[in-house]
Amino acid sequence: MTMLGLMQQQDLRISQLIEHAATHHAQVEIVSHVSDTRSYRSTWGEVRHRAKRLANALTDLGVLPGQRIATLAWNTHRHLELYFAVAGMGAVSHTVNPRLFAEQISYIINHAADEYVFFDLGFAEQLVAIAGQLPTVKGFVALCERSEMPALDLPNLLCYEDLIAQASPDFEWPQLDENTASSLCYTSGTTGNPKGVLYSHRSTVLHAWAACTVDGLGLSARDSVLLAVPMFHVNAWGIPYAAAMCGAKLVLPGPGVGGERLYEHMVKEGCTFSLGVPTVWLGFFQYIESQRAQLDLTQLKLARVVVGGSAAPRAMIEKFETLLGTYVIQAWGMTETSPLATIGNLLPAQQDLPLARRFDIQARQGRAIFGIEVGIFSPEGERLPHDGQRVGEIKVRGPWVVSAYYGDRAGAALNDEGWFSTGDVALIDTDGFVQITDRTKDVIKSGGEWISSIDLENVAVGHPKVQEAAVIGVAHSKWQERPLLIVVPKAGESLTAAEMTDFMKDRVARWWLPDDVVFVDGLPHTATGKLLKTQLREQFKGHRLSTDPI
Ligand code: ADP
Repeated sequence: MTMLGLMQQQDLRISQLIEHAATHHAQVEIVSHVSDTRSYRSTWGEVRHRAKRLANALTDLGVLPGQRIATLAWNTHRHLELYFAVAGMGAVSHTVNPRLFAEQISYIINHAADEYVFFDLGFAEQLVAIAGQLPTVKGFVALCERSEMPALDLPNLLCYEDLIAQASPDFEWPQLDENTASSLCYTSGTTGNPKGVLYSHRSTVLHAWAACTVDGLGLSARDSVLLAVPMFHVNAWGIPYAAAMCGAKLVLPGPGVGGERLYEHMVKEGCTFSLGVPTVWLGFFQYIESQRAQLDLTQLKLARVVVGGSAAPRAMIEKFETLLGTYVIQAWGMTETSPLATIGNLLPAQQDLPLARRFDIQARQGRAIFGIEVGIFSPEGERLPHDGQRVGEIKVRGPWVVSAYYGDRAGAALNDEGWFSTGDVALIDTDGFVQITDRTKDVIKSGGEWISSIDLENVAVGHPKVQEAAVIGVAHSKWQERPLLIVVPKAGESLTAAEMTDFMKDRVARWWLPDDVVFVDGLPHTATGKLLKTQLREQFKGHRLSTDPI
């Protein structure tokens, strides 16, 4: 018989995070840019104070434990207060991505059956257009002061600062079971309708802990964090919770995430750490490079940057290091994994490698952190070795990995061994570094072998005249599928198919070379900036490859 330990049985809760931050890091600043011209300086102490007022206000509005509260909001102090107030009182904070199409936003709000919607004024028009189709929503709360309240055709329109001002700051956080739901995020739905991932207090706190470990993201009280990943994108990768856990300073950029604004914040607030998708950093470097003569880059203290959501281009990793002395931590994950799953920190033997070799390693998606078990599997379900050669679908298990989508029964998204299939295809090298080569839906199946669309795209965008490129599989009578390369040339450049294949032929295996190249003015993207390949496949469904004998 086993013996039980004699340690305290304490549930993990999000309210403990804000209590800790407000007790031990009360004066640490939260700098919030509500708009391009207005900012507000708050502290962890004040976040707790106002979150408690908000929890009382929500209670007065009749919000009950388990009910969903939607936000359509940028990264601001008010959104941060909502994160802690809603989950802390036992309700569920549902961050809606305002970049989705109107039909997707109303689908998501209705699927979640949200009770209230808190919104930034910039999203008011979007909400007015769909408000009539949201039967569960009892009211709309504008994230502003009384003097800024717009006249809007929204039923039961309330003012956030009024709610805060009228409510008492005395609120006892309930002693919730750690498995209580805390927040809800929908996947961006590259295929079919968006699906909800419902996080718990336990999964959120454990995930935050992982972010604060040195071989996680190494977040600490010594960091000033510029949050350039939106709080409506997988809870800003869990950083608001992790920052409260370690007492880091937070800089919330609001709607302005252009290169110039990010640069200004970094200098002014002494930012040591930042996070964002590759597109954000492309804008950042465009600014730096165009203003190079005027800027004193030594003013930047940026030590680490997390790049994720899509592959971090090697050239970006190199620029961060050589121009700014910033180490790029590439991270891989998804809404279903909270999202941190693999993180690119170096092993001892890799620390002193020549830079070019190190960049190759950083261009991979990193290694599994404690709490996440990662495996690659063949289509037949056989587990494949981590030999840097074999390529298979990534499956994951762990306490912050989804068990079922919102509305399904627990475990419905898992196989018999408890693995969640990510839909990402990868190899894992002998050091445990994952390298994503594709998504299962996008991989090109040619004569029984797999061709990586991502590898081909990476090579194609290396051509100096190429702005963006996508590769999809197109039906072929002999090979089943062959690659079609779709290219957006840079403005003012003209490019031929022969030039493209010529450029690529020494850079990829001969049999991987695209059969055809077509040129377009632009490519379709999802709300989180990923290539929308379903639409491209639809658009080029009838494309007859020039290599097809039939
Ligand atoms: P969605 O799946 O709804 O588009 P997510 O934000 O959950 O939105 O995206 C997760 C996906 O993004 C992963 O499954 C993977 O395909 C891709 N991804 C995330 N991080 C990386 C990375 N570092 N490198 C390559 N792909 C990545």
